[in-house]
Amino acid sequence: MKIAVLPGDGIGTEIVAEAVKVLKVLNLPLEMETALVGGAAFDAHGHPLPESTLKLAMASDAVLFGAVGDWKYDTLERPLRPEQAILGLRKNMGLFANFRPAICYEQLTHASSLKPELVAGLDILIIRELTGDIYFGQPRGRRVATDGHFPGAEEAFDTMRYTRPEIERIAHVAFQAAQKRNKRVTSVDKANVLETFQLWKDVVTEVGKQYPDVALDHMYVDNAAMQLVKEPKKFDVVVTGNMFGDILSDEASMLTGSIGMLPSASLNVKNQGLYEPSHGSAPDIAGKNLANPLATILSAAMMLRFSLNQDQAADHIESAVKAVLASGLRTADIYSEGTTKVGTREMGDAVVTALTKQITKG
Ligand code: NAD
Repeated sequence: MKIAVLPGDGIGTEIVAEAVKVLKVLNLPLEMETALVGGAAFDAHGHPLPESTLKLAMASDAVLFGAVGDWKYDTLERPLRPEQAILGLRKNMGLFANFRPAICYEQLTHASSLKPELVAGLDILIIRELTGDIYFGQPRGRRVATDGHFPGAEEAFDTMRYTRPEIERIAHVAFQAAQKRNKRVTSVDKANVLETFQLWKDVVTEVGKQYPDVALDHMYVDNAAMQLVKEPKKFDVVVTGNMFGDILSDEASMLTGSIGMLPSASLNVKNQGLYEPSHGSAPDIAGKNLANPLATILSAAMMLRFSLNQDQAADHIESAVKAVLASGLRTADIYSEGTTKVGTREMGDAVVTALTKQITKG
């Protein structure tokens, strides 16, 4: 089982080091190879995604990714900016399915901006299509308007488009994920206004017929945005397009109150995947032993489950994280009175200790 370890920039190196420490406790034949990505790769090789890093990622079963970016690269031309490395990896690896679980841990219920009773026990999974939609549709650009409200004015335009096979494959991913959970899929669209999402709705409905054990409902994106804060626990799996998923997954993640807790996975048709925390490189706290490593550690658990077929090891890591939270240890971002504040390394060590106990228990 080969893993490309790409820590990246800012807190990326600190949090990935903790996840690697945790993975090493498992008695599994994991071959981990580290490479530069993002700003660190630009500094060393003049490109955020050097050929050697891409080659390593493509040849691995999974990529464990930290985060990339720093304000100091903001003046570089766009193709050389650190964030382009993620887009390059997604494109080259064909990572079309993005999984973002939003789980509210019992001990962190108070960290949400919603009332505790609305989020206690929350466990939803947002599945976002990642390689299509208005983010990639052509044509796009700027031009002089020849019609519309202001002919002759400068205008910009993008193209929203999805093909049937793109919708089919993400729908299958969603129904299969729901089969392993509470067997409910909510497909989010804007079929009342957009042709693209009428096709989306039709295709998801057709694919749904192949999964009679899974209940399917459809929701317009504006209503979904509202329901996510009104009654989030009524969702199980939410599947949607690239742009709606981008927005809704951030909304859902904040229901849990703590960006430092949220893992993510992006998978291709071969179940090869890129696993990363949902947050960025947090330059404001980098190098200070302040970052919460749990999102990255939980991303490593997702990696074991989705790309490496090691469900038991994944369960062990998730239980270890719960045990550490139950023991009252908190990094600064999730700290509250009555708990014990620890740094990045100490949090990683605590998970290692709890995991070792889990493994010994079997
Ligand atoms: P960010 O997610 O890096 O930080 C937002 C806030 O959350 C900051 O206050 C930060 O300190 C805090 N935070 C983030 N992760 C944390 C953790 N693990 N523990 C504790 N606190 C944490 O977003 P930003 O500040 O908008 O962006 C910073 C840089 O990251 C930018 O260069 C941006 O482009 C990049 N970025 C990268 C990714 C990625 O690599 N996938 C994603 C988002 C942003």
